[in-house]
Amino acid sequence: MVRVRIAPSPTGSIHIGLARSALYNFLFARQHNGKFILRIEDTDPTRSTKESVEAIMEGFRWLSLYWDEGPYFQSQRFPIYREYAEKLIKEGKAYYCYCSEERLKKEREKALQERRSWQYDRHCLSLNKEEKERLEREGVPKTIRFLVPQERNVVFNDIIHGRIERSGRDIEDFIILRADGTPTYNFACVIDDALMEISHVIRAVEHISNTFKQILLYEALNFKIPFFAHLPLILGKDGKKLSKRHGAVSIMEYKKMGILPEALVNYLALLGWSPGGDLEIFSLEEAIKLFRLEKVKKANAIFDFQKLEWMNSEYIKRSDNKRLLEGVKEFLEEKNISYKEEKEERLLEIIQLNKERSRNLCELSLNMGIYLKEAIDYDKEAVDKYLDEKGKENLKELLSVYEKLSIFDKETTEKTLRELAKDKNKKPAEYIHPLRVALTGKLVGPPIFDVLKVMGKELTIKRIKKALTLSLEKNTKDN
Ligand code: GLU
Repeated sequence: MVRVRIAPSPTGSIHIGLARSALYNFLFARQHNGKFILRIEDTDPTRSTKESVEAIMEGFRWLSLYWDEGPYFQSQRFPIYREYAEKLIKEGKAYYCYCSEERLKKEREKALQERRSWQYDRHCLSLNKEEKERLEREGVPKTIRFLVPQERNVVFNDIIHGRIERSGRDIEDFIILRADGTPTYNFACVIDDALMEISHVIRAVEHISNTFKQILLYEALNFKIPFFAHLPLILGKDGKKLSKRHGAVSIMEYKKMGILPEALVNYLALLGWSPGGDLEIFSLEEAIKLFRLEKVKKANAIFDFQKLEWMNSEYIKRSDNKRLLEGVKEFLEEKNISYKEEKEERLLEIIQLNKERSRNLCELSLNMGIYLKEAIDYDKEAVDKYLDEKGKENLKELLSVYEKLSIFDKETTEKTLRELAKDKNKKPAEYIHPLRVALTGKLVGPPIFDVLKVMGKELTIKRIKKALTLSLEKNTKDN
């Protein structure tokens, strides 16, 4: 039975790395009919927040990474960790350490000065009975340290990296329970992974050094050791570790930009894995079938925002109009573009007309606004180029024929414009260019007769009249 987990510390929102780890765990669970578990690692009360827990759950839901169990909270499991720590003490596999922060700091600094490495010197392992009793009487704070078996190597077979080995000598007697009774990450993680019967631990490569310590704990506690798979680092395009400098790292910022969650999930899937061939665009359902944990690359992955944006525009082009309407609503609202009185059919038509040219939902909402708002913004360049005297003259001629039309569909408006051009011995483009600027404020856009149809006669006439009042240079911003 496959049981995997994502175990975020709730100290912020979901960043790209966490989302990718969650996705790979999710894909692995689904393709094996296993369980995907959410565990909140909130052992540090000073850094963990409720808001962050909410944000994390909201983010996973937005990405459709639904978990089957949890959330479990480590903060509610402190007695369990204590129980196991004391068990280790009883068995002589862990010991109390009374060393103060100051002492440890001093020793560390001294070693640094003498240019030698330092690990805990087992000072408290050799305390005699009287010394221990005195320290207890005085109420000196104590931690619990794990007694690392040093005369051996720790080895494991990583699903992605293969055999990895480290000498026990390089691992210090690390703390498992702090003086305030809270467990350290390595300890709580092992107890939970074991008790929650996690079969595969799939997490970021930064954790490899922890895995050695964790394996020693599994062994000391007679727990079954899970399989491990350490996912490659995610770097920015400059080869440095992904950070704010590279743009948004929180997935909710991508939501705000109008990236579709299905596009983001698709892009995340490719950060360290590929289905082979040149297949790049696939659904979550397809990814569940195609994903192979053992095919995840060792090499660092590069996060490239332009590529994500490209992928998003591909998704927008391919998406069902109704799905886009659902997604774009919050952006229309945010920009005060009213759409609620419009017929759904018209909104879908506007989307159909603009989806090819919108890289994200935010752009789509702005493009839709041209058909939904009274007033539009004009690009200065477009006005200067086509709404000069000649352009306006042509628009006036067009206005007089368009005003008379009772049917205002694509065919009629096109036929009328072309006939007018013929009559006046002008090129159709001489009407089409100023018309596009009058209707959309822009130099380029969807096919003009589609624009006319979706815009409708009333708004078209209004916009042409408005354009005739615009003067060059100034007044390019309508209000
Ligand atoms: N809370 C740890 C983290 O966010 C979990 C690591 C793990 O998956 O074991 O890095």
